[in-house]
Amino acid sequence: MTTTEILTGRVLSFTRSPFEAAPEAGAEIHEAVAVADGKVAGLGSAATLRAAHPQAPVTDHGDRLILAGFVDAHAHYPQAAIIASWGKRLIDWLNTYTFPEEMRFADPDYAAEIAARYLDLTAAHGTTTMCSFCTIHPESVEALFAQAQARGQRVTAGKTCMDRNAPEGLRDTVQSAHDDSKALLERWHGVDRLSYAITPRFSPTSTPEQLEALGALWAAHPDCLMQTHLSEQTDEIAWVRSLYPQARDYLDTYEAHGLLGPRGLYGHAIHLEPRERDRLRETGAALVHCPTSNTFIGSGLFDMAGLMAEGQRVGLATDTGGGSSFSMLRTMAAAYEIGQLRGTALHPAQLLWLATCGAAQALHLGDRIGNIAVGMEADLVVLDLGSTPAIAQRAERAEDLWEAVFPTIMMGDDRAVAEVRIGGRRV
Ligand SMILES: [Zn+2]
Repeated sequence: MTTTEILTGRVLSFTRSPFEAAPEAGAEIHEAVAVADGKVAGLGSAATLRAAHPQAPVTDHGDRLILAGFVDAHAHYPQAAIIASWGKRLIDWLNTYTFPEEMRFADPDYAAEIAARYLDLTAAHGTTTMCSFCTIHPESVEALFAQAQARGQRVTAGKTCMDRNAPEGLRDTVQSAHDDSKALLERWHGVDRLSYAITPRFSPTSTPEQLEALGALWAAHPDCLMQTHLSEQTDEIAWVRSLYPQARDYLDTYEAHGLLGPRGLYGHAIHLEPRERDRLRETGAALVHCPTSNTFIGSGLFDMAGLMAEGQRVGLATDTGGGSSFSMLRTMAAAYEIGQLRGTALHPAQLLWLATCGAAQALHLGDRIGNIAVGMEADLVVLDLGSTPAIAQRAERAEDLWEAVFPTIMMGDDRAVAEVRIGGRRV
């Protein structure tokens, strides 16, 4: 039996990218959204939807903002318990905090515990889909997919592959990386709301032979995503240069091994050469901006305005736990601050689009999630735009929606999340 529900409030729907024209022009505000069978069944005025669905229960959210659930395009769920670890830059941070923690995911019980904790925490922050790295252990992928499947949640993830420059116990091989990834993608890709991403961590922790084997696997399964890291810190780029002396640049270490394509996701992408920018744009690959990570680890300032102007595909992400927050609100605030440091103030519509539509499009899921439109999956977040006294007193002065939502973007956290729906179900 189909049960239709109606939510009323201020329902945000994007009709086009707010980077293409005047930012407000791409956004529509409706009074109500109808949800049935896990999908958006209607969008429009409250009176129209009530008339169309006279039996449907109505939840009135008043002047709260109802939008698509947040999409986090790059995260490391196994780092949930080491988020906000002090004092290191990338390579030291990996060796000191990350690798010892990732070692623990050989234990399926620990992997299941952290996967559940991570999905609870992210849902509480309004994030309904993420694209996550796991660890080298197939058990870590099984744990996240099993938890997501039980929750009816749309998640993309993959086994992180590393066969060098990682400690004993955290290295696979050329063959096992290929074979384990293949077995996992055959078991999980396309099952329910789950999809697989082939996942070399980054060039320094893979031999050229491992990158080649993963490139071949991607060629055999081109509908999978491929996620990795690119040009995060200058020391890292120098290291890549010494490890791959034949490569034209960092991106070429992937390109030469079949790991550049339209379904490729490249986290960070801060210090790019002109050739890299050209190749990323030509192939339609996605760059994933991780602003809290970039300031927290001291990596640099992503060129959002320049990359958007040249037509790159860009998503937004926390990079948990290199990023310092589970919150996509805090992530939008950091993107705004980095934009300011580069001389461009991102509009609230652009920030909200990046955290929903933009991230979903980066994951090639823009036809299913990331926006509220009829037929889309009903992953929703309801934001209270006066969730703390400090935010409320500022929002009271607002003269339009964008001025009302901006204090929540800059100062909000999980207290602003009034309700979350995954596949239409309240969580
Ligand atoms: Zn990362």
